Order: sequence, then structure tokens, then C-alpha cells
Amino acid sequence: MTTNDSYAVIRKELSSKNVALVAVSKLQSTKKIMDLYAFGQRDFGENYVQELVEKESLLPKDIHWHFIGHLQRNKVKYIAPFVHLIQSVDSEKLLKEIDKEAAKNNRVINCLLQVHIAEEETKFGFTEDELEKFFLNNEKIYKNIKLAGLMGMGSLSDDNEKVKTEFKRLSTLFKNYFEKDRTDNSFLSMGMSSDYKIAIEEGSNMVRIGSLIFGSRLQ
Ligand SMILES: *Cc1c(COP(=O)(O)O)cnc(C)c1O
Repeated sequence: MTTNDSYAVIRKELSSKNVALVAVSKLQSTKKIMDLYAFGQRDFGENYVQELVEKESLLPKDIHWHFIGHLQRNKVKYIAPFVHLIQSVDSEKLLKEIDKEAAKNNRVINCLLQVHIAEEETKFGFTEDELEKFFLNNEKIYKNIKLAGLMGMGSLSDDNEKVKTEFKRLSTLFKNYFEKDRTDNSFLSMGMSSDYKIAIEEGSNMVRIGSLIFGSRLQ
């Protein structure tokens, strides 16, 4: 199938379930992004600051750029003027920095807290304990941040049961912290090319799909 065929299939599947699609365009060309743009896709996800800044400058201004990679504090300033949703907030220090840069730009920046749910040690994110502390202590003090939900990555594993268990845990945390007493929309961003169907079964309402739509990435 071509990029556009697989995109059409996935989009139809997701929209029937009210799940938002972020097309992960890291290491993909601006031409490929524009092909999906022509089909109406507006939400794109990027992992690298320099690449995102460059693409933003070249592409239409009504694209919603999602930052989904590990974000260093000293680079927040480059994306703060335009980023739509930072999904990979993995520490309070980073949140503080985003708040500061958002204020400088007279913006409120939407953020998701990334939660560490997979077994692999290398993955970034809040632990469940850190998340609990965060909501007990600090939630209200960031004036230029809108906390809009949680993001997580499952283990890169063929063991579907394991991935399912991880997504279930994240889904429970999301219900505890976001769905209970908030009236505005919030997002549980979980699921990628290999595991998005499991994620949706477990309650995801936003998936981040790259290679399944675009094909493999140029390295
Ligand atoms: C690259 C990436 C994705 C997309 O991965 P695919 O397997 O290509 O769908 C999703 N989320 C994050 C955080 C990523 O870094």
C-alpha cells in the first residue's frame, strides 16, 4: 500500500472510535507531510527540536505540532513560540522551564506528563510515585501551562499481554488524575504503529503513528 492508502484506512478506523491521530513525521520529508496535509491531516509529531523548527518554518501555519521526544530544558525556547502540545514532559524541572518560556511568548502551552510504564530502564518519564507527589503538591502553580493528560510508551515487546498490562496501568492513572473532576477534554496518548490497537482497547484517545503510515524512516 502507498502512504496515502494506509493513512486512509487508519484514519477511518480511528475516527469511528473517536481516537485522535498524531502522524509521527520524524525523519520524514516535508513532501510526505504535505501529502497527508492534502488529505486533511493537521496533527504531526516530531522528536527532534532542530528538525521541528526547520519543518515549522517551511510548512503551513495551521499544522498542530506535537513534540514527543526527549526535550532538553535549554531547547524549550526554540519550540515555545509555536508548539501545540508537548507530550513528553518527564520532569518538574522541564515543566517549570516550559512555563517560563510560555510566559515569555504570552502563551499557554498544552502539556502531557509522560509516565514511565515500560520495563526498559532507558525510557523517560514520571514514575507512579512521582506523579502522585506532583498532583498533591504542585499542580496549580504553573500559570502558562495547561495540563491536558498523560502519555506513555509500552514495552517494545511481542508479548501483547505485557503491553496490555502496562497500558491498563496508565489508563487507571489517567482516570484517577484527569477524568474524575475535570470537565474539559483531556488526552491519554498511548499507542504506536505496533501496539495502537491494544492501546485503544485499554482506553487511549490519542495514538502516535509513524512507520505504519509513512513507511520506514530515513536514518
Ligand atoms: C517514533 C515515535 C512514535 C512512532 O513510532 P512508530 O513505531 O513509527 O509508529 C510514537 N511515539 C514516540 C514517543 C516516538 O518516539
